Amino acid sequence: RFISFEGIDGSGKSTQARLLAERLRDAGREVVLTREPGGSPGAEQIRRLVLEGDPDRWSPETELLLFTAARRDHLERTVRPALGRGAVVICDRFADSTRIYQGITRGDLRATVDRLHDLMIGCEPDLTFILDMAPATGLARARGRNGSEERFEDFGEALQARGRQGFLDLAAEFPGRCRVVAADRAPEEVARDIARLTDEALA
Ligand code: C5P
Repeated sequence: RFISFEGIDGSGKSTQARLLAERLRDAGREVVLTREPGGSPGAEQIRRLVLEGDPDRWSPETELLLFTAARRDHLERTVRPALGRGAVVICDRFADSTRIYQGITRGDLRATVDRLHDLMIGCEPDLTFILDMAPATGLARARGRNGSEERFEDFGEALQARGRQGFLDLAAEFPGRCRVVAADRAPEEVARDIARLTDEALA
């Protein structure tokens, strides 16, 4: 089983991914908790190449190719082997982030994103949680984080709002696997909903 967490920066993806991993491990399942961009040694190198340093170093097209290369390596080295031995894979971001960031907010490349995805990735999670929250809340939380190596994605509220709408549109585009969860609540409350939806989906 392959589960992804998506949403704008600051929406609590990493926390919720960790909480779900703990819960499934407590229930006796093998869980591989991973993230994108990254999740394998090669993909983590590509992550640093893209996210550290000058944000304008790569064009949107080159950035899309790099993120797609990272995803391919992550799939080959981490995700597929884990799924193959029956583990649950929980991934903090997957292809939906590329559909939004490279497809809409950083570049207007959604058609190219889809073609590259078909060519080089060709799989989707079984279940995707879209953590939804007001752009201002997400921004405040993302700005408040320190010690993070992430690229300064401080596009402001307008772009966060486009990202949020983009994720909601994806949930409508892929209703079979996507579940929208209100994320501007206490983490334990969000986690409880996610646990219930996971049980329903994996039953
Ligand atoms: O989720 P995480 O904080 O690790 O993401 C790091 C940064 O990379 C974020 O600012 C996110 O907006 C950006 N990103 C991106 N394109 C992706 C995935 C993440 O621009 N496909």
